[in-house]
Amino acid sequence: TVGAVACDKEGNIAAATSTGGMTNKRWGRVGDSPMVGAGNYANNKTCAVSCTGSGEFFIRGVVAYDVSCLMEYKGMSVEEAAKEVINKRIVEIGGDGGLIAVDAKGNIAMPFNTEGMYRAFKTSRFNEQAEGKKLIAIYKE
Ligand code: ASP
Repeated sequence: TVGAVACDKEGNIAAATSTGGMTNKRWGRVGDSPMVGAGNYANNKTCAVSCTGSGEFFIRGVVAYDVSCLMEYKGMSVEEAAKEVINKRIVEIGGDGGLIAVDAKGNIAMPFNTEGMYRAFKTSRFNEQAEGKKLIAIYKE
């Protein structure tokens, strides 16, 4: 899966998710990636989210929308909401994977509960408060 989330200087956010699906998937299987709310979601009031992992569980958990709901209705930050969903809620129903998310101020979260998840981010001058204040960072663990 390749996912991207973005935030412009006006606070408009967007999410995109592309995948080849799970290895050895059943013919005709549809995963979470094309399902808005499961594998991806964006709402200027909260955040943009793109997910990777065991899609069946991400569909059951409506994961991307769940992150947004935790922000909108429980007042969590994007990082708190993303960690709650990936480290607790999706684990409780037996799923594994991760997500990338950005809120309308440029704050980011990239939690995963698997061994690793390739991920990178680039921040612009307007949102240097984002993690580490780095302009470009790439993680490979
Ligand atoms: N989430 C994708 C799917 O279930 C697979 C992946 O992230 O690699 O189709």
